[in-house]
Amino acid sequence: MLRLDQVHPLLSGNKWYKLHLNLQAARECGYPTVLSFGGAYSNHLYALAAAGKLFGFRTIGVIRGEILQPLNPTLAFAQEQGMELHAVSRTDYRDKTSPEFLAELTERFGACHVIPEGGGNEAGVLGCTEIASSLEWSAEAKDRLVTLACGTGATMAGIIAGLTVPCQTTGFSVLKGGEFLQQQVLDFLRTVEAPDPGSWHINTQWHFGGYARSTPELLAFIHDFTERTGIPLEPVYTGKMMYGLYAMLAAGEIARGSEIIAIHTGGIHVRASLARDWAD
Ligand SMILES: *Cc1c(COP(=O)(O)O)cnc(C)c1O
Repeated sequence: MLRLDQVHPLLSGNKWYKLHLNLQAARECGYPTVLSFGGAYSNHLYALAAAGKLFGFRTIGVIRGEILQPLNPTLAFAQEQGMELHAVSRTDYRDKTSPEFLAELTERFGACHVIPEGGGNEAGVLGCTEIASSLEWSAEAKDRLVTLACGTGATMAGIIAGLTVPCQTTGFSVLKGGEFLQQQVLDFLRTVEAPDPGSWHINTQWHFGGYARSTPELLAFIHDFTERTGIPLEPVYTGKMMYGLYAMLAAGEIARGSEIIAIHTGGIHVRASLARDWAD
């Protein structure tokens, strides 16, 4: 397992890879403010808030729907890091890439570097190519397989674009109806002008009811996995990916002797911040 959850105590997981070239671009353009979008449980806004504090950017989080008080652990953390939270209605949020809406935001917050929801722009995908450089295979590896959880497919596209050895990549959709990810990964590959190696696949089977939904079976699997390995997983992304990988192994869908690297994309901070609250 490639533990991206351990790269930094706050900037953990794939979100940091999507952010760092964006922050570099903001700095180069002289923008002191970085603005992005997300739901109330966005790992992306969580990472952006932490990065803003660490690297001296003002950050704005445009939140889909109402901001409920008391703030949930994700938003409480973001605010603690200095992120300004700005709620917009679900209807306005759907419009968030329109020039009029962006003009309104710039009028309100001043000139800012805007990162799309989830961090999946060109700089975000390019940043994720570095994840591929961290993959270490044994010299005798013949069939290589990389697995990861997919929300937008940006991280997966970055990894595919960054691979330097022949390798299969399987992305597990954490959303119901994840078939759209096929096209999305292709689009992200095109964004960074990477060829499509064709050696990748989206598994749409293990969404457990949809985004952020789970079942007792998934939760039991996560509990058991963590007991046995000491590796924390969460039910939104990494738990579904590991469940799906085990299911593929059990069904004999992975060639015998394959070398597999599962990517732990992070996202376990919600647990960490809950644990911190309990400790206080
Ligand atoms: C956001 C996220 C993903 C999905 O990344 P995409 O690039 O949107 O596919 C996977 N795992 C975790 C923990 C995440 O926070």
